[in-house]
Amino acid sequence: VGNVNNKYEGIWRLSKLGVPVDRDPGKDFLGVSESLLEEIAKVLEFPVASMLPSEAFTVVRKSFDARKRLKEPKFVYIVEMDVDKLLRLEPRSWDFISELEPKVGLVEHMPQPRKSGDLTSIIHDLKVHEGSVSRESGHTMLNGSQGSYTLPTARKPKIAVVGSGPSGLFAALVLAEFGADVTLIERGQPVEQRGRDIGALAVRRILQTESNFCFGEGGAGTWSDGKLVTRIGRNSGSVLAVMETLVQFGAPEGILVNGKPHLGTDRLVPLLRNFRQHLLKLGVTIKFGTRVDDLLVDNERVIGVKVSDSVDRLQSSSQKWEYDAVVLAVGHSARDLYQTLLSHNIELIPKDFAVGLRIEHPQEVVNSLQYSGLATQVCRGRGKVPVADYKVAKYVSGENGDEPLQATSRSCYSFCMCPGGQVVLTSTNLSEICVNGMSFSRRASKWANAALVVTVSMKDFGALNLRGPLAGVEFQREFEQRAARMGGGNFVVPVQTVTDFMDNKLSVTSVPQSSYRLGVKAANLHKLFPDYVTETLQHSISAFDKELPGFISKEALLHGVETRTSSPIQIPRSVETYESTSLKGLYPVGEGAGYAGGIVSAAVDGMHAGFAVAKNFGLCNDGI
Ligand code: FAD
Repeated sequence: VGNVNNKYEGIWRLSKLGVPVDRDPGKDFLGVSESLLEEIAKVLEFPVASMLPSEAFTVVRKSFDARKRLKEPKFVYIVEMDVDKLLRLEPRSWDFISELEPKVGLVEHMPQPRKSGDLTSIIHDLKVHEGSVSRESGHTMLNGSQGSYTLPTARKPKIAVVGSGPSGLFAALVLAEFGADVTLIERGQPVEQRGRDIGALAVRRILQTESNFCFGEGGAGTWSDGKLVTRIGRNSGSVLAVMETLVQFGAPEGILVNGKPHLGTDRLVPLLRNFRQHLLKLGVTIKFGTRVDDLLVDNERVIGVKVSDSVDRLQSSSQKWEYDAVVLAVGHSARDLYQTLLSHNIELIPKDFAVGLRIEHPQEVVNSLQYSGLATQVCRGRGKVPVADYKVAKYVSGENGDEPLQATSRSCYSFCMCPGGQVVLTSTNLSEICVNGMSFSRRASKWANAALVVTVSMKDFGALNLRGPLAGVEFQREFEQRAARMGGGNFVVPVQTVTDFMDNKLSVTSVPQSSYRLGVKAANLHKLFPDYVTETLQHSISAFDKELPGFISKEALLHGVETRTSSPIQIPRSVETYESTSLKGLYPVGEGAGYAGGIVSAAVDGMHAGFAVAKNFGLCNDGI
């Protein structure tokens, strides 16, 4: 045992280990069960599973697979096997380990265990190992494109981070850890007050235009579903660093293992409080209720921001605060600021996005669509199997259409699916309606909602005579205003049953119940969007029903409108330095700048931007 061959040393990763539901302890158990040991023993060809020491194995991913073509639904595991530990605890396993052959995607030898760690410790290590920073005597020279700008070494770089969504928080964290003098400026309120403002919206219909589902501490991701799924590579070092940082601030460790990690609003709120405390300890100045109205620009470089009190409008005399750099992390609902950026000739490029409706089914319907017989084991989030979700997509070929616009091929897909959640109002303006979905950690509500959205592009904006960099914003606004008018005001949302929508009729005036708290009104949603959106939705819903028979149901209700799926613009920036290509010292990041979509990708972008800015100011040599 003492001289294990190098080939076998270290960590082996065993993937696609399936344990049927009736033999698994259930979704909340993330350890190594006896049934899992039996599956591991099969792979190792080890004769007595119970002799394998569970301590030698770590579950790194657990997912639930209930696809219809499977004989039986099962939990699917990825497990890491520590060979040294295994041989120490069960020396007889050597005979089997020495026979183990790698199989791509199933059995893999990993010479190095995967690197992980929260950002604070990663930065600590970077500081220790990289030590020196690129400081010239007497001054700190800025790297990258900004070589002409110098700071006296006596002072730290003063950096404003505008917006406390995931991208702003992670940018602020990295910069503060590297010793910058950071001010985090947020137009909305801290989570305690924001919770009260959202409560007043739900109960008394009072929309605070500066403190709502989009604006406030934690950004748009706070009163959300808190899904942490991302398409940018679940196992990348950057995503792991973000996830581990969330764990450091109070997220359950299960998010590191769960195949579809999810937090829910009730877990996000305390997590954000801990994040705030950590930033304050690092010396970050946090200014809530403070809106950035303009940039201070001198000699083609941003030198600060003009701010006003976003709550007390009587106190709204603006102030000028000077900074060496401004990280702009304002999300995709900061429409007022987009206009300001244009006035400084900052380049904004319109970008394609997607618009549509939010569909809501009773959760029981989705459970039985996905799980059939297993549906009873969901038990409103307390059961053995996860509350069922779905993901559907359809590419509709333009050949189906007769009109020139309909001839364009489009995709329709589900987006931001919230099992056990509720439909919420994400408007930031009294005369507009747009909706999204949120949930709590247990996903215990009776409802399942998801956006069904259709891709739109510049050509579509032009057809409505909308031109220029903000054409996409105007396109969103147009349909948000139409939805508000169709609802009849007071944040009432226009809705239509899916069956009626498919037949283009309004047969019921009393619609099925909705989870949306501010009231719904029956309307023919065909009158909302241009035909190419409506028809693509119809074609796609019909295809989704073939995939999930029962998706078209009298109980399913479509809510109008879902428009803020991603940013309608992009602010070009340097790939290396993250600095705006049209204004020095400005760092556009996150979803609002067109570089992210979702909590994790926004956090990753903010983190990378933090490293880039720190590097540009000579605070570190490289990122992670
Ligand atoms: P944001 O989170 O939008 O943060 C921007 C911040 O900037 C805001 O706090 C805003 O108040 C502030 N700000 C704006 N303008 C100014 C200004 N002029 N001055 C000062 N401050 C300003 N994504 C997921 O991955 N999973 C989910 O489950 C999920 N659910 C969602 C549910 C809802 C209801 C909503 C609205 C979104 C959801 N999203 C979800 C999307 C996700 O929240 C966003 O992708 C993410 O928050 C973007 O992060 P960000 O930091 O780029 O911007």
